[in-house]
Amino acid sequence: MDLMYSSTRNDKIKMTASAAILKGLADDGGLFVPETIPSLDISMEELAEMDYQETAYAVMSRFFTDFTEEELKNCIRRAYDSKFDTEEIVPMTSADNAHYLELFHGPTIAFKDMALSILPHLLITSAKKNNVKNDIVILTATSGDTGKAALAGFAGVEGTKIIVFYPKNGVSPIQEKQMVTQKGDNTFVVGINGNFDQAQTGVKKMFNDSALSAELDAAGFQFSSANSINIGRLIPQVAYYVYAYAKLFKKGVVAKDEKINVVVPTGNFGNILAAFYAKNMGLPIAKLICASNENKVLVDFFHTGAYDKNRDFILTSSPSMDILISSNLERLIYRIAGNDAEKNKKLMEALASEGRYEITEEMRAQLSGFYGNYASEEETAAAIKKIYEDCGYIIDTHTAVAASVFHKYQTETKDQTKTIIASTASPFKFTRSVMTAINPEYDSMDDFELADELSKIGHVKIPRAIEEIRNAPVLHDVVCEVEEMPEVVKEFLKVK
Ligand SMILES: *Cc1c(COP(=O)(O)O)cnc(C)c1O
Repeated sequence: MDLMYSSTRNDKIKMTASAAILKGLADDGGLFVPETIPSLDISMEELAEMDYQETAYAVMSRFFTDFTEEELKNCIRRAYDSKFDTEEIVPMTSADNAHYLELFHGPTIAFKDMALSILPHLLITSAKKNNVKNDIVILTATSGDTGKAALAGFAGVEGTKIIVFYPKNGVSPIQEKQMVTQKGDNTFVVGINGNFDQAQTGVKKMFNDSALSAELDAAGFQFSSANSINIGRLIPQVAYYVYAYAKLFKKGVVAKDEKINVVVPTGNFGNILAAFYAKNMGLPIAKLICASNENKVLVDFFHTGAYDKNRDFILTSSPSMDILISSNLERLIYRIAGNDAEKNKKLMEALASEGRYEITEEMRAQLSGFYGNYASEEETAAAIKKIYEDCGYIIDTHTAVAASVFHKYQTETKDQTKTIIASTASPFKFTRSVMTAINPEYDSMDDFELADELSKIGHVKIPRAIEEIRNAPVLHDVVCEVEEMPEVVKEFLKVK
C-alpha cells in the first residue's frame, strides 16, 4: 500500500507522492502532507555506517513509496554528487558547545541547494510515472537567492527548462552576477523593469492563463513551480537530520537513543518542519528550537498561540529569514489540529482575510516540543564575533541568529542537552555583514577583497561558487517590461 498525500485544506484529496510532487500546491490552496509519518525502521547501528546518499534513500523511500528503488536512487545519485564540494555532502563542525551541521556545501553555498538539487529529478521522474509527455517549464520570480539555487538545480536537466524573473534593480550586484552568468541551454534569466511583487504577480498570472497553457501544451510544454511548499522539497531535508544524528552516534558523541536538541534559523518554516518530521519518524530529538531574526512573528506565535502578520516588515542582515508568512507552518497547524482539514482551512482563511489567527489551548499543548526565540541585529553580529574570537570558526548571519538563540535558550533553561545547529549559509555568501561583525573597518574593502580576507582569517578555501563569478561571462542580458513576460516566455520556448 502506497503512502498517500492529502491536502491540508481538504481530507478527500488522496494522491501518490509523485502526483503531489507534480502538482506542487493542491487546487484548494492547501499543502500536500503524508497521511502518516512513516517510522524510521532501521537500527542506528546501520544508519551510522551509511553515506549521505544511502541515508537519503533510507529516509525518502519511506515517504515516496510509489517510486521504484531504481528511480529514487537515480534521483539521489544525480542530486548529491560533485556539485557539492565535499563527499560528506553535509559535514559537521563542532564549535562553541554545539555541532554545526553545514548545509551549504552545494552549488550556491546555501541550504536551499539541499532540496533544489534533487527536486528537478523528482519532478521529471514524477512526470514520467504519471504519463506526462510534455517538458516541464519552471517559472520562478526571485528576490535573489531562490532563483540562483533553482537555476543551478535545473541547469542541464533533460526534460526541463527554467525561466527566472528578477527585479532588474532589486537584487544585490553579487546575486545578479550569480544569475546572469548561469550556464545551461535550458536556463533563461530575465530582468524586469519592476519590483519583486510585480515579478511574482506576473508569474502567477502566467500560471493561471489557460490560453497560454493551451498554447504551451500544443508545443509540448507545461508549467510547474519550484516553490518551497512542494513536498518534493520538504522530504529530502528530513534526511540530513537523520544523517547528522547517525554520525554523532558513530563518533560516540551521543549514546544510543540519547536525545539531542536541534536549532534551526527559520523563515518559511520548511527546514525546522523537516526536523519535526525526523523526530516523528523516531529520531531522538528533544527540543526543536526555532530561531527568528527581528521579524519574530513565529516567536510571538509560540509564546501566545496567536499568529499575527500585521506588523512592520524589517530588512535584516539575514534576508532569507525576512518573512512574515511562514508558509510551511500550515503543515504543523494541520497536524496539531488533529489532521483536521476543516479546522486548518478556517485558520488559513482568517490569515488571508485578517492577517491573523489564534489556535486553541488544546492545539497549543502540542507545541511543547518547540521553543521559539529571536536575535536582534546587534546580537547576531555579536554572535559572529564571539564565535570567531573563541573558536576561530566563522559563521554566516543566518546561522548566527541560531547561535544567539541557542545561548539564550541555554541561559534561560540551563538545559545542557547536546545540540545540532543547522548552519544554512556559507559566510562567503554574506561576506560584508559577516566581516564587519568581526571588525567594522572591513567595510572599506570591496566584495572580492572581503572574500579573500575571510578566507585568510578563517582558514577556509574560497568556495567555487564565489571564484566562478569573479570572471564568469554574462550569458543572460534580456530585460523586459512586466506586461511582456508571457511574450518573452514564448520566444524562449520558440512557441508560435
Ligand atoms: C531559506 C533560508 C532560511 C530559512 O529556511 P526556511 O526553510 O524557509 O525556514 C535560512 N537560512 C538561509 C540561508 C536560507 O536560505
